[in-house]
This record gives sequence, structure tokens and C-alpha cells, in this order.
Amino acid sequence: MIRRLQQLEKAARALEPSAGQRKKTRDKVIAYGEDFLNRIKTLKAYDFTADKGIGLLDSPISEEPLAIDQALDLLRSNVDSHGLNPASGGYLGFIPGGGIYYSALGDYLADVTNRLAALFFGSPGAVRMENMLISWLAGILGFPKTAAGNLTSGGSIANLIAIVTSRDAKGIDSKNITKSVIYLSQQTHHSVQKAIRIAGLNECILRYVPLDQAYRINAGELESAIRSDKEHGLNPFLIVASAGTTDTGAVDPLEKIGKIAAAEGLWLHVDAAYGGFFILAAEGKVKFAGIEKADSVCIDPHKGMFLPYGLGAVIVKDMASLRNSHYYLAPYLQDAQGEGEEISPSDLSPELTKHFRGLRFWLPLKLLGTKPFVAALEEKLLLAKYFYREIGKLGFETGCEPDLSIVTYRWIPKNGDPDDFNKRLAEEVVKDGRVFISSTVLDGKFTLRLAILSFRTHLKTIRLTLEILREKVEMLEG
Ligand SMILES: *Cc1c(COP(=O)(O)O)cnc(C)c1O
Repeated sequence: MIRRLQQLEKAARALEPSAGQRKKTRDKVIAYGEDFLNRIKTLKAYDFTADKGIGLLDSPISEEPLAIDQALDLLRSNVDSHGLNPASGGYLGFIPGGGIYYSALGDYLADVTNRLAALFFGSPGAVRMENMLISWLAGILGFPKTAAGNLTSGGSIANLIAIVTSRDAKGIDSKNITKSVIYLSQQTHHSVQKAIRIAGLNECILRYVPLDQAYRINAGELESAIRSDKEHGLNPFLIVASAGTTDTGAVDPLEKIGKIAAAEGLWLHVDAAYGGFFILAAEGKVKFAGIEKADSVCIDPHKGMFLPYGLGAVIVKDMASLRNSHYYLAPYLQDAQGEGEEISPSDLSPELTKHFRGLRFWLPLKLLGTKPFVAALEEKLLLAKYFYREIGKLGFETGCEPDLSIVTYRWIPKNGDPDDFNKRLAEEVVKDGRVFISSTVLDGKFTLRLAILSFRTHLKTIRLTLEILREKVEMLEG
């Protein structure tokens, strides 16, 4: 037995590289990252390739180790040179990403030290840090100090946590579910419908409230729908508003909706996954007035704080409701649970063991302060206005002036079907690859979108985009 243990220990030794081995590997990984960052301005926003990185599969997982050089080669040729490049400032489709470098260093430290951020007992410091970030988020939203929340992997899980909390807080169960009503809009992000289904609320009545011309919820229509539903013996319990829709960046009238929710006794969830951080900009603050009336908010640091993917957040005004829906006492954790000075993330989310994701948020905030983030957010709002003005001058049809940093536009060709034309135009721009744009359907029409949210997108990028669009229109019209 002892002999076998000694053999096994020796065979497993590779799991703990020596300082020299660590340095050798780390230097190559850092060099790879540096090469990527040094070339980021010239890298395409979208890479079209025929093989889509299939070569990765030629190197299957096996018993045998692979040298770091070869592993990085696999990564370079099969992963980092195909498809979207969300680190590029030219990524102007869907909702852009980014990837603040100091977050990567935060992740590095979180992974090396591997603190158990799930429980206060396990890592009081990590939990204090995450709760401090939650408090900061609650503060910028104008929520009281007693609000709680959770750092999630992204907005979808944040929305799910909020929907589940609203369900339990409003007592929705098998007896009243088919009479219970949720109010949302055609512009609500699909992660909300997904969350409704996962939360077992599919049998509720989903009431799609009519929109105004700028794709915002019509508050008057919302109010009459709730009143009429109540008169018909139904049980309205939840309103989902958007503070920045993904399609057009429209901010629903939060002040009015907040008042309606309070007067009628409904839970108000605001999905601010995309737009939330614009509240830090003077102009955004005005548009977000009323968000403090919400019962819960979803806000994504991996969008509006330019962090690398993997960080969303949910903030809930009433901590007891959030905890009530998510805590559990397990016998094997009896030594680690119970009253601490700080509430533990595991009491407020479906997760137990989790990534210490607070560190990737805290480190850049500490190293940079909030000022450069606020400046970048103001810059995005202004760039959207600039693009809106200039694209109109080029002769494109535009909708309303953008609420935030998403502009919708389309070209009306001299001949032929506009939908077909704009589809081809988008394809040409994406094929070119210098910038990436995406499209949507508004009022049944194929419409192009420009979403500006990367910290690497500047005036030069937007001018290039205008130039590319002009060039491609000319080519297609020609
Ligand atoms: C992106 C987005 C989501 C989903 O967030 P993920 O982080 O992608 O899971 C939800 N709502 C809105 C409005 C979004 O823009």
C-alpha cells in the first residue's frame, strides 16, 4: 500500500509544476497575450474561415502531455482566428464585449489562490469584496443600503434569479399560476422568456404591452392592462421593463412604470444588462430616473463595464426575498453556514462553489478608479449620436435618435427589395471583416444595427464604419 502510494504520488507530480516550469509556461502564455494585444488594432472584428477551427479536434484529449508551444499553436490557429473577435473595437454588432486587461490579472490571481468565495466562513475577505461590489452597484442604482444581490456569470442568470425571487415573493404556486400575469414587451430580451420557462412560470399569462414609436413600453397601456386584468379576476404580479433594449437601446419609462408597479402592488424587474452602466454618465442618469423604484435589476459588468465575459449582476431591494428563494442548509456544511457578519453568495444564488469572480471586477476598479469608465461611457453615447447624424447624411433611413448607444438604420435602394438589399449590405460588411455589424427586424423590416459599447471603439472606428458602409452601398447599387 505504501509503495503504491509512493508510485501514485510520483505519477501525479506533474500537477504541481516547479517554479522553473511555472515561469517557462507563464512567459509563453504572457507572450501570447501580449502578441494578441499588440496586434488588436489590426485584427479583424470577424474572421470568415472555411474550416472554423476544426483542426482542434485533430489533437484529442489523451494520456500524453503536449508542450505549451504546441498548445498555444492549437489555440492560435483554431480558436483565436475564427468567428467574432469581441476584443476588437470594430465589434459593433449584437452587444459588444471588450475585455479590460486588469480583469484578466484578477482572474489569474483568483485562480491561483482559489479562495472559496461562496461562503463567508470559507473566505470572509472574498465575500466582503463581492458584497462591497454589490453595494456599489446598489448605490449607483439608487437602491437602499439594505439591498442585496449576486455576482453572476452573466445577465441571463441574473434575470433568472430575479424572476425566481419575484415568483416566490408574490406567492405564485400551482394554485394560482394560470391566473397570474407577467407584463413585458416584444422588445424584452429573450433571456427573460427563458427564465420564465425555467422558473416554471410558463403557464402564467404573458401580456405583451404595446410600445410607443421609439419601442418603449407605453405606460398608459400597461396601467390599463393591469386594471383590466384585475377586474377580470386575474393576478398581475410582475412587470419586466428594459433599461436599454438589446434591439434599439430604448429605455422604458421607468419612473411611470415604477409608480404603476407600486400603486398596483406588482414586482418590477428592470433588465439593464446592456444599458445599466450608462447611469454613470450624466445623460444616462436622466434617462434612468425611476430605476430606483424597481424591486430587482439585472446589470452586466461584462457589457457596460467592458469586463471580459463572465460577469453579470442582480440587485434585489429586499434581501429577505432573495435569500428566501435561494438559501439552503445542508448537514455537511453545518460548520460553514449560519450567521456571519456578511451574507454569503451561496445563500443568494443557485450556485454553491463558484468562481471568485468579484476579483476581476474589483481589481480594475481599484487600479483605475471609476473616472475612465465614466469617460468611456459618455464617449459611447456621443459616438452613437455622431453615427446617427452622419449615417443620415449619407442618405440612410434612420429611426428615432438613440436613447443610448445603439443606432438602427437601413438603406432604401433605387430598385429592388430593401430587405434583400440590407441583408446583402450586412453580409458584405461582415465579409470585409474590419468592423462587425448585425441586424434585426423592426416592424417587420430588416434593419441594420450599430451597437457601440467596446472601450476600444473610438471616433476613428465609427468613421471607418461609415466609410465601409458608403463603399458597400455604392458597390451594391452599382
Ligand atoms: C445581453 C443581454 C441579456 C443577457 O445577458 P448575458 O450576459 O448575455 O447572459 C439580457 N438582457 C439584455 C437586455 C441584454 O442585452
